[in-house]
Amino acid sequence: MNSTTLDNAFNKELVRKYNRPGPRYTSYPTAPHFRKGLDPKPLLNALNDEHSRNRPLSLYLHLPFCESNCWFCGCTKIITSDRSRADGYLDYLEKEIELLKGQLDMQREVVQLHLGGGTPTFFSAEQFRRLDKILKSNFQFAADSENGVEIDPRRLKQEQIETLAEMGFNRASLGVQDNNPEVQEAIHRIQPRQMTEQTLEWLRAAGFKSVNIDLIYGLPLQTVDSFEQTVEEVLALRPDRFALFSYAHVPWIKPTQKIFDVRNVLPDDETKLSILERASAQLMEAGYAYIGMDHFALESDALVEAQRKGELQRNFQGYSTRGGVDICALGMSSISQTHSTYRQNEKDLKAYMRRIDEGELPIAGGYILTEDDLVRRETIMRLMCDLQLDFSQLSERLGINFSNYFEDAIAALQPMADDGLVDIFEDRLEVTPSGRFLLRNLAMPFDAYLKQQAARYSKTV
Ligand code: SF4
Repeated sequence: MNSTTLDNAFNKELVRKYNRPGPRYTSYPTAPHFRKGLDPKPLLNALNDEHSRNRPLSLYLHLPFCESNCWFCGCTKIITSDRSRADGYLDYLEKEIELLKGQLDMQREVVQLHLGGGTPTFFSAEQFRRLDKILKSNFQFAADSENGVEIDPRRLKQEQIETLAEMGFNRASLGVQDNNPEVQEAIHRIQPRQMTEQTLEWLRAAGFKSVNIDLIYGLPLQTVDSFEQTVEEVLALRPDRFALFSYAHVPWIKPTQKIFDVRNVLPDDETKLSILERASAQLMEAGYAYIGMDHFALESDALVEAQRKGELQRNFQGYSTRGGVDICALGMSSISQTHSTYRQNEKDLKAYMRRIDEGELPIAGGYILTEDDLVRRETIMRLMCDLQLDFSQLSERLGINFSNYFEDAIAALQPMADDGLVDIFEDRLEVTPSGRFLLRNLAMPFDAYLKQQAARYSKTV
């Protein structure tokens, strides 16, 4: 299936029908199932087990600081204008790496590095150079390591981009969300269009290979027309990828979002659906393939190629082209992943620092996957990445009889098959172009934990 077959695949009626709370499956089980206070020993032992010890590493660093609070934001961040806090944070990252050395084979090759936040570009060029020294003196980077950074165009200086390029960064993801000045005021994030354009110019001049732009639909005061205008403007910049996220309204988790209810400024569900319908059509008409789960990419992009080859992966950073890696995450709240475990650092900065000061790795909890979890994780991830499940291939790989193991899940998909979201055959199932917009719903029958947790999640669209 190629992207052209997706034209007009967005079926508003079906999206409306299936728009219910569900996880995004950047992990399985999802983070609410991680256990606080879990004994860290087995989590650390897993770093050296038969599955993990020879795998390359994907390094993730959580850099939590932001200068101001965007009211829609669901990230774990710390709002401050004191730039020197980044120096103190670097001290702790360095100490965390020292503590990790006793547990992790530091000779394992790093094939991927990602700086997320918060706002990684809160760090100055000089602070980035110090970070570079810390990383390069402790980890072994592959020559072709894929290095990505999340960028906030506001308050950005060209020097920071040039420094990141010198450090080997070649992929960038830009937060834009919406270009409309009224929407920007309503979400407390003023970012004139020229700032985004300038950032793109700097990134390209510095030799960045791939640029992603993040947009969010469902934000306060958005209309179909206003967002159409935003999409038109950012399309003119021709980034390699787009992420078109649904605004997740979860004021019971993120109290700042309550302001949108008080001001009564959120578009209704119907408007939100129409915005998504129009924006998806615009992106696809402009030649972007729909990967699935909010992600679009140019046909020439590595994500599209990886999907065609069945090599696409999904993890905490979204979709990725590198499989067979362990995620080694550093910094407060970050989540590491081995073949059979998830390990989360303390979410609170003070607790993170205190644990390190006490000479301990700042592990707050985690999860050890059961055999059943491993089977379900692989199934859900293959569905979300390959958009199909080959029952005999999976039976062989997972050591089960797939059709029997998932008899109930496959039966639960039948109503969605009747609605044209998935084609179910004797030996496989295939997501249809309309089904790509409802991947979470198609994955949910394979999730053994969902019944207990549904109320915690935002709607799928
Ligand atoms: S959207 Fe980005 S810049 Fe804004 S508060 Fe969230 S993490 Fe910080």
